[in-house]
Amino acid sequence: MAGIILKTREEIELMRESALIVSKTLGMLASEIKPGVTTLKLDALAYDFIKDHDAEPGFLGLYDFPNTLCMSPNSQVVHGIPNNTPLVEGDVISIDCGALKNGFYGDHAYTFAVGEIPKATAKLLQITKESLYEGIKAFKRGNRIGDMGYAIQNHCEKEGYGVVRELVGHGLGTTMHEGPEVPNYGKRGRGKLFLDGMVLAIEPMINMGTHRIKQLNDGWTILTADGKPSAHFEHDVALIDGKPELLSTFEFIYKALGITSDEEIPYRNHPLVL
Ligand code: MG
Ligand code: MG
Repeated sequence: MAGIILKTREEIELMRESALIVSKTLGMLASEIKPGVTTLKLDALAYDFIKDHDAEPGFLGLYDFPNTLCMSPNSQVVHGIPNNTPLVEGDVISIDCGALKNGFYGDHAYTFAVGEIPKATAKLLQITKESLYEGIKAFKRGNRIGDMGYAIQNHCEKEGYGVVRELVGHGLGTTMHEGPEVPNYGKRGRGKLFLDGMVLAIEPMINMGTHRIKQLNDGWTILTADGKPSAHFEHDVALIDGKPELLSTFEFIYKALGITSDEEIPYRNHPLVL
């Protein structure tokens, strides 16, 4: 993995473009997710959508990944491979999407409910998403990587959830994975200092039960060790003038689903055209 590469303001604006292509792709998918649809069908829609926006799918072929989207239902944590199994009412599906444009990657993720889901699973999704914003709030001048990890871990573990240890967030730029590694756990005041020009993919992966995971023999799919559900939310965030600035947005998803939210407002200094 490349080291930490700080970005100029111009580069950050190019990265915003890449991140927003992913945001729009997830927004398009939000309208298509329903019982009966297959993850392979959603993957094909995403491929066409990204190409239509003059970008390249960021994951396809990366480390030899076979598809456009990582599609991880229910007890799958991340890196699931799209297939022909229809989604059913009550499933959750974590969708991670990457796009490459102007030489820069966007990389973000959302866990969707398929129809009505159990209350306990809905809470897991809510807390995991909240923990993402706790992490973003900690991405500021004077703080360190450990402050962010602590904020995410604390928010989830107080609910009894398991914070995956083996997989982490990362720096983002002309490569999908740059330094620093961004764990979703940590100790306050530890680790590297945050610096202006850092662009991070912050991505809590949180399990309803144990933090332990296993991997399918497809060489990709990561699952919870106890078979309980997992959730994954990811944003691309730049540090500008000592403060976090969201490059990606869930607003396209919310527009498709008829949700209103003010969760992103503190982290956006840039007008968003939906
Ligand atoms: Mg991702
Ligand atoms: Mg990522």
